[in-house]
Amino acid sequence: MAKKFYQLSPDERIDRLTVSKDTKTALKRHQSRQNSQLIENYISDYNLPLGLLGNLIVDSQGYTVPMVTEEPSVVAAANNGARLLGLQGGVTTTSQESLTTVGQLLFAGVNADDLADFVVQHRDEIDDAARRAKSSIYRRGGGLVDVTVRSLPGQRTSVDFAIDTQAAMGANIVNTILEGERSVFDPFADRFVAAILSNYSPHQVITAQGKVAVADLGGQDIARKIAALSDFGGVDIYRATTENKGIYNGIAAVTLATGNDTRAISAAGHAWAAGDGQYHSLSHWQLSEDGTQLLGELTLPLPVGTVGGAIGALPSAQTALEILGNPDGRHLRGVLVAVGLAQNLAALKALSGEGIQAGHMRMQARALALQVGAQPDEVGPLVAALAEAEQLDSAVAQQKLEELRQHESQNSNPFRPS
Ligand code: NDP
Repeated sequence: MAKKFYQLSPDERIDRLTVSKDTKTALKRHQSRQNSQLIENYISDYNLPLGLLGNLIVDSQGYTVPMVTEEPSVVAAANNGARLLGLQGGVTTTSQESLTTVGQLLFAGVNADDLADFVVQHRDEIDDAARRAKSSIYRRGGGLVDVTVRSLPGQRTSVDFAIDTQAAMGANIVNTILEGERSVFDPFADRFVAAILSNYSPHQVITAQGKVAVADLGGQDIARKIAALSDFGGVDIYRATTENKGIYNGIAAVTLATGNDTRAISAAGHAWAAGDGQYHSLSHWQLSEDGTQLLGELTLPLPVGTVGGAIGALPSAQTALEILGNPDGRHLRGVLVAVGLAQNLAALKALSGEGIQAGHMRMQARALALQVGAQPDEVGPLVAALAEAEQLDSAVAQQKLEELRQHESQNSNPFRPS
């Protein structure tokens, strides 16, 4: 019987693709045994650029921060924001002492008060079930911290389990404990719907604060404009969504580099941004009373870990953590929120000054150069030529590249310094 697609080896899957021989060879060249075990239907590795944020100061400690992103200008902007914040001593962070992740047992057609009474009466059994389901997290100092019952519209009820997952992000740990709890809630089995971790993470919130001297920004006008722009993020969902996307440009890049779950942090962040019913920016900037400083604050949940999931399985995630100095979870969260604040500052400054497009297009020109087929030693001259162009698009880039190549064939080699 023919093998199913998922039963094939990576090479066999590649051979079934309708792509050129060269593409197949390239795919086969970039395989790794380690990654082939991480996901299903694996065929090859997919490379992304890893860049560095040079000097981020968080709670008086300097970090070199690895960032993985495909978007030009993100790393440059993060460095710019971190430099400005660093001039005033860097970013300070505050967070809750103990962090928990919530898991839900969901019931339909049940009175929430009945479940609340049941939880009070059976609390010891609930604790025992959690301990039995995942004894190792108790040995590590974590485990079930709290159980609460939430009444939802339409006779729906959520029993929320707050679980301390220690150094792990904890999705699997929480789901394992929830599975163990199901039998305790047997009397409600006919109304049980699902047991699942929640990515809403109000118990993982961290705040970063930083300041910039107005003089370092280029004067009162730009500082006032940044504050005014920040106010838009508090009242306008169109502006707030873009501002938060910019914040996650940096945070997601570090999250990805360290092998953490980028979807979990952004889902948690956007839900937090809409927590009071109105979606708003996660950050806020305002002028100090004496008008000499711009004060910034960013608050968001960061459900990340330093162990577990793909972190231990991905050598590049281990490398990223080593570059960061192997931080514990508290310090990793501090770095992430500080990167978000730096990224946000740089974006607001660019928008309030020369406009976002000037800086972006300089970086975009590099991507465009690669897109039209420029070789590595042609990228620099082509970007310089594009900087002079009135329009920036692929047709212009193609034309400029051809001109440069013609020039090269007529002269010795204009791309390489003699
Ligand atoms: P794991 O399932 O890998 O569990 C954590 C592991 O880390 C355990 O094996 C634990 O070992 C080990 N560990 C070692 N040291 C510690 C320590 N100090 N504290 C805690 N654990 C330690 O990962 P998670 O439970 O963290 O789950 C994260 C993964 O789940 C991510 O890959 C995520 O993408 C994925 N996921 C996410 C979902 C979501 O967000 N909705 C849903 C499902 C999965 P031991 O067992 O010996 O204690």
